[in-house]
Amino acid sequence: MNQKDRRRFEGVHAFQFNCFPGVSCFTNCCQDITIVLTPYDILRLKNNLQISSGDFLDKYTIMILKKGHLIPMVILKMNEDDKKCPFVTPEGCSVYADRPWPCRMYPLDANDDGTYSLITESSRCMGLKEKDTHKISEWLESQGISPYEEMNEYLSSLIIQIQAQPMDIDNPQVQKMLIMSLYNVDKFREFIFNSSFLERLEVEPEILDAIRKSDEELLKFAYEWIKFGLFGKKVLWVKGKPDQKSVDVSGSTTESDVR
Ligand code: SF4
Ligand code: SF4
Repeated sequence: MNQKDRRRFEGVHAFQFNCFPGVSCFTNCCQDITIVLTPYDILRLKNNLQISSGDFLDKYTIMILKKGHLIPMVILKMNEDDKKCPFVTPEGCSVYADRPWPCRMYPLDANDDGTYSLITESSRCMGLKEKDTHKISEWLESQGISPYEEMNEYLSSLIIQIQAQPMDIDNPQVQKMLIMSLYNVDKFREFIFNSSFLERLEVEPEILDAIRKSDEELLKFAYEWIKFGLFGKKVLWVKGKPDQKSVDVSGSTTESDVR
C-alpha cells in the first residue's frame, strides 16, 4: 500500500470501486486471510448456515486466548489445503447476506478516529480500477454495516470496561462463561432457560420473552449479564436479595447446571 492509499477519508468522501464476477481477481481476497469474528458475526453466520453456534465454533473457528485477556479472539478457519475461506465458491461468497464485518468493509477499513482508509491497493484489488464512484457513507450503508456497528459497540464497551479495572482474568471458569455467553448463543439460551439461572436471578418478563425469540436480543442480554456479573451493573438481581448488585459469573449457577 502506498502513502496515498493510507490517507484517511471521511464518510462524505467518495472512492472508485466495483467488485463483480468478471473482475480478474474475483475471490482472490477470500483466501489466506485472517478474519477475526465478533460475537455478532458468529450469530449471523451460524443462522445463515442453519447450524448451532456450538457446531459453528467447532467446525469453522480457531479460538485464541492470550494471557492477560479475558475475551478470546475467534478466527475464521481457512481450508487446510488451499487456504481459502470455507465459504468461497467460484460464483462468490456463499454466505454473502451474512458475511462478517471485515468482508463487508473490504476494501475499506475503519480507523479509530471514525475515518476510513483503503486496506489494499489497485494492483491487488482490480475493483479499485473500476469507474463506479461511491460516497463512502452510502456505500457502507449498502453493505449492511449498521447492525454490525450497533452490535460491535456493545463489544467495544465491554472491552473498555474490562481493561479499566483489575479483575481475576485468569479464572478459567469466568473465561468459560464469557465464551459461552458471547460466542455460543444457543448454549447460552439453554443455560438461561434450562438451568437454575432463573431460580436464582430475576429477569423482567419482557426481556425473557425477547431473548427466547431473538438471537440478537439474547446477545445484547449476554453483554448485560456479563457486566452484571463482572461489574455489578444492575440489569437483573439475585432473587430474595434485591440489594445484591452482582453475582459471580463463575459461581453457583454454572454452565454444568444446564439440563
Ligand atoms: S480483490 Fe477486490 S475486486 Fe477482487 S474480488 Fe476482492 S474485493 Fe473484488
Ligand atoms: S465470508 Fe465470504 S466474503 Fe468473507 S472471505 Fe469468506 S467467502 Fe469471502
